[in-house]
Amino acid sequence: MRYAIIADIHSNLAALTTVLDDIEHRGGADEIWCLGDVVGYGPDPRECLAIIRKTTNICVAGNHDWAAIGKISISDFNPDAAAANQWTAQRLSDEDIEYISNLPLISESGDFTLTHGSPREPIREYLLSSGAALQNLAYFETRFCLVGHSHQPVVFTCDENEDCSARYLLPDSPVTTKESRLIINPGSVGQPRDGNPDAAYAIYDSQQQLVSLYRTPYDIRSTQEKMQAYDLPVRLSARLSYGV
Ligand code: ZN
Repeated sequence: MRYAIIADIHSNLAALTTVLDDIEHRGGADEIWCLGDVVGYGPDPRECLAIIRKTTNICVAGNHDWAAIGKISISDFNPDAAAANQWTAQRLSDEDIEYISNLPLISESGDFTLTHGSPREPIREYLLSSGAALQNLAYFETRFCLVGHSHQPVVFTCDENEDCSARYLLPDSPVTTKESRLIINPGSVGQPRDGNPDAAYAIYDSQQQLVSLYRTPYDIRSTQEKMQAYDLPVRLSARLSYGV
């Protein structure tokens, strides 16, 4: 079985459709798992929700998803994120709101736990250090955990003695699932922040026991033009060019 893992789409329709095409190009996936933040920042929340609803087998809620339906406050969002989130909230249909409100915070499938931020704090925690990864091992029971939220493609490999090490996930350097407990972040589809503007996602191949990261360029300009037309914060559209 092949599982495509996507996270942090952030209403970037051009990035999402390019990633889904790229998955097909690489032989397709039996299931698509989504790690949250379908909306927020970008210009196409409704279109992205429609595709996610149709194509994913599992999707968990992210902080931007919950904020857009008023389930959490935007008081700790920076001004640009808050402005984009308020704009997003106005565009959602009743059906969109219902879909988001029914997304779980944590989901399990086979050897994997899926969540947005961390198993310890699904909506808020950014899993960026091996120390935090180590602490989070107590909060999920499966061997592996998939997270998003930081927009950084990274894998934490934890050995038998419960010590974790971190490394960036790069294309052509897949992670084996033959050993260890792992916490994996596939990076962001719609707003990469690791200095590479190409959309990021991963594929888990259960037969090969490998998780591979992929990067794909997409039409950034088309997303930026829509953001300008909707008067979304300039900084949010500019950052897409640089992957920051
Ligand atoms: Zn995000």
